[in-house]
Amino acid sequence: MRKNFKRYSLLQAEHELVKLGLERYRAEQIFKWIWQKNADDFSVMTNISKELRDRFNGLYSLAGVRIADLQREDADAEKYLLELEDGLRVESVFMQEGTRRTICVSCQVGCPLACKFCATGLLHFERDLHAYEIADQVRSIQQNRGDRCTNVVFMGMGEPLLNLDAVIGAHEIISSPIGLGISRRHTTISTAGIVEGIEALLRSSVRVKLAISLNFVDEEIRKDLMPVARKNPLKDIIKLARVYSRQKEMVTFEYVLIRDINDGIRDARDLVRLLRNIPSKINLIPYNEHPDLPYKRPKDEKIEAFFSHLLHSHHTVVIRKSRGQKILAGCGQLSGSQVARG
Ligand code: SAH
Repeated sequence: MRKNFKRYSLLQAEHELVKLGLERYRAEQIFKWIWQKNADDFSVMTNISKELRDRFNGLYSLAGVRIADLQREDADAEKYLLELEDGLRVESVFMQEGTRRTICVSCQVGCPLACKFCATGLLHFERDLHAYEIADQVRSIQQNRGDRCTNVVFMGMGEPLLNLDAVIGAHEIISSPIGLGISRRHTTISTAGIVEGIEALLRSSVRVKLAISLNFVDEEIRKDLMPVARKNPLKDIIKLARVYSRQKEMVTFEYVLIRDINDGIRDARDLVRLLRNIPSKINLIPYNEHPDLPYKRPKDEKIEAFFSHLLHSHHTVVIRKSRGQKILAGCGQLSGSQVARG
């Protein structure tokens, strides 16, 4: 059985080649072929001798993700169903707004957190993705579109901080000049708020933006709708957010507005109070409805009133535009009916 060379980080690839009695720099050559020139076979690597290419082909595969389906709402919103080496499937989303082209990647097949309002939570958790499987979502979508994206967000299926090593490995490939070369300043990890994970990210040397899915200021409601909150209290998350914005990058708080659950002016007031003195941005996400879930998007007037209250309280706040509704490509809509069947 051939090993998949993509599973090696650059450092591991160097070790592997040295073990074969080869030069270390070949690892960098191969990396560039994989991530910059979309090589899926060693035969195309013309700066490597024919003899060596044949030897590599005998030892290693370069299997990656395969596009199994693509749904396009319009030129600016696409949802990809991607098949992994073992036949499991994940979804990734491409969105364009002005000159910003964003790919939203998944980091797990399914999600173990099971937030009640999120369609991904309806799926069984199958497994973590490998670093290359996460980066390969970006590579294959770019290749399919024939253009490059400007931003990558780890906001698709799964919880990035429960698969942190792979997410860090993927971030390295995505941002490396010999990898996909996307600016570190344009990558964001979104977490439901895993205290140990945020601490680990703080200890690491990775510079990535952090978005925290706060969603509910009332701890009891939060624990009910986001079971992960039972072991990860808000006060610890807020404390870490302050440290993160001081040591790394300014934190964004995501707040999914759900009708009659967290969309009142009292909720807005509590949110302002909670985030007082934390340099941060608030990203309001009007709930994206899903046919299999009972939750609703608030009326537009309610969303406006909530937004204005935050604005007047001097918070940097944006309402995230809903993209790809018709193809269920919005936040929390990645239920992958086809993933489950996959
Ligand atoms: N597990 C990570 C990343 C995946 S969810 C996290 O929780 O952040 C990405 C974002 O979508 C989160 O902010 C989540 O709260 C939000 N979300 C989930 N379901 C949603 C829905 N139906 N409508 C709008 N946003 C949703």
